[in-house]
Amino acid sequence: MSFDDGPDPVWTPEVLEVLQRHGAHATFFELGAMQNAHPGLREQVLAAGNTIGSHSISHKQLTAISAAGRHHEIFDGPRSKCFRPPYGASNPKVRADITAAGMTQVLWDVDPRDWDRPGVNAIANDILHHAHRRNIILMHDGGGDRSQTVAALDRVLPILKAQGYSFPAMDC
Ligand SMILES: [Zn+2]
Repeated sequence: MSFDDGPDPVWTPEVLEVLQRHGAHATFFELGAMQNAHPGLREQVLAAGNTIGSHSISHKQLTAISAAGRHHEIFDGPRSKCFRPPYGASNPKVRADITAAGMTQVLWDVDPRDWDRPGVNAIANDILHHAHRRNIILMHDGGGDRSQTVAALDRVLPILKAQGYSFPAMDC
């Protein structure tokens, strides 16, 4: 399980509560700007046994900005071993900078498009239909009202657990 675009003072604690209640962990790809705006949440995420990846500083499309801007977004963002480019937009230059900054690019396998708020059923069903060993699922704990994400997570975790899945955080 992975969550992008936080930390968010409303939704990140709700996601953490659901994960904890089901004995699950996740990796949170956080924005440097959100970390700075909401101090303390980063520590809360880590204290619950989750890990943090970088999602850049301000969510710019890294394939569409200057080299200086790209360097800044990658090198000066959250400290981690993992980096997920905003929008999944990458190219050889982006990947080279990620590597030079000591990080590994991490994308995802399953995108239930929770950011588009398609409804709790749609999000949950998409996750359940695409569940597969070692698949990385993309969700969001920031960027708007994430109540559907929280409800879908609460629904799928016990079902997947009953199917034998566990939910480790990535080594970031
Ligand atoms: Zn994002």
